[in-house]
Amino acid sequence: MKRDLICVACPLGCPITVEYEGTEVFSVTGNTCKRGDAYARTEVVNPTRSLATSVKVNGGVHPVVPVRSSQPVPKSMMFDCMKVINAASVDAPVRIGQVIIPNILDTGADIIATNND
Ligand code: SF4
Repeated sequence: MKRDLICVACPLGCPITVEYEGTEVFSVTGNTCKRGDAYARTEVVNPTRSLATSVKVNGGVHPVVPVRSSQPVPKSMMFDCMKVINAASVDAPVRIGQVIIPNILDTGADIIATNND
């Protein structure tokens, strides 16, 4: 199987072609660095995405605080992760870098605050 991708690992956006079957990658071409190779292999075998959203704050200055995942999570689990995040809330004060939800859905990613509140 052959798949054409645009690398999103940096703003250059190199066009990459991956030849693979199932989880076996035969070739990656078009990338100009190793990050592109890694991106392409992950994208066809187990695509992941970083999560950036917000969580409700109880008693804070603002009603929500921005959060992000400490590492990308499987793309197939994004919807379920968002359900957990949308149901969560945190008591003020919130500190930047604070872990709001550890190891969300056993993905290994923590949901962490990216601002104070
Ligand atoms: S292959 Fe390398 S240089 Fe090209 S977009 Fe990806 S990260 Fe950037």
